[in-house]
Amino acid sequence: MAEEYSFPKGDLMAGKTGLVMGVANHNSIAYGIASQLAAQGAKLAFAYLPDMEKRVRPLGEAIGVTDFIPCEVTDDASMDAAFADLEQRFGGLDFLVHSIAFANKDELKGSFVENTTREGFLTAMNISAFSFVDAANRAAKMMKPGGSMVTMTYLGSERVIPNYNTMGVAKAALEAATRYIARDLGPKGIRVNAISAGAMRTLSLAGISGGRGLLSQGRMFSALKEDTSMEGVAGCALWLLSDLGRSTTGEVIHVDAGFHMIGLPDEFANLAG
Ligand code: NAD
Repeated sequence: MAEEYSFPKGDLMAGKTGLVMGVANHNSIAYGIASQLAAQGAKLAFAYLPDMEKRVRPLGEAIGVTDFIPCEVTDDASMDAAFADLEQRFGGLDFLVHSIAFANKDELKGSFVENTTREGFLTAMNISAFSFVDAANRAAKMMKPGGSMVTMTYLGSERVIPNYNTMGVAKAALEAATRYIARDLGPKGIRVNAISAGAMRTLSLAGISGGRGLLSQGRMFSALKEDTSMEGVAGCALWLLSDLGRSTTGEVIHVDAGFHMIGLPDEFANLAG
């Protein structure tokens, strides 16, 4: 990570402790965000799928993480144990990063209306949307005023993106949940926001049929005509999770090189007459 990306160092997160959920490998968005937060002095715990310990621990240790907590978000007992462990280790929490999603591969292709099963729909909703509601509720109980939470979403919640299908519906639920949680936790001085990142080369993207095409479309049709950078996403998370973001809550912020706001790419202007 250190060689690939350059994250500005400083002390914006000095004295703050946080939980990062969703590191699977060095390409994970959660790992980019964690690397940026660590470079700004945050003390971090990683929560990760139990069978990923071997891969996740060295990544965390490389950026100074000392606390590793296995956690399967669909299992109440696992969530109970993870947050009890966290409470014991940290005593309190200043921020939460939720960077978790999953849908069955079979449902991330073709016709949404024909391919979506009840089981697949509920799985995507459970892991990709409800897990944030659950984690936010548990994290908030450990937070004081000034706490902040960030989750990760994608444009497929607002617009139809081929093959994104049931995940797009889950992301719409996640974004709505972000606003409801922000309303509930606002009086406690806790902020809650979502980052809508452009397509990035990660395991999750590989699970979407034609996912690599989303990368090149982002590059071709975004306002900046470039890929979404890990530095840009991590920088936005740093802003939202630090005191710099103190008046922002309930937002879905696009960090996608300006892809979301282009109505008609120049390349198609002639077709429009
Ligand atoms: P990733 O595969 O590295 O991260 C997804 C994480 O979810 C993994 O760490 C995985 O272990 C975890 N996870 C899945 N099921 C879980 C479960 N049951 N319990 C606990 N953890 C579980 O991929 P990523 O691209 O870094 O994805 C992170 C977030 O960013 C996701 O919400 C994704 O939808 C979102 N996002 C990704 C892109 C992109 O193009 N890659 C763009 C916008 C938003």
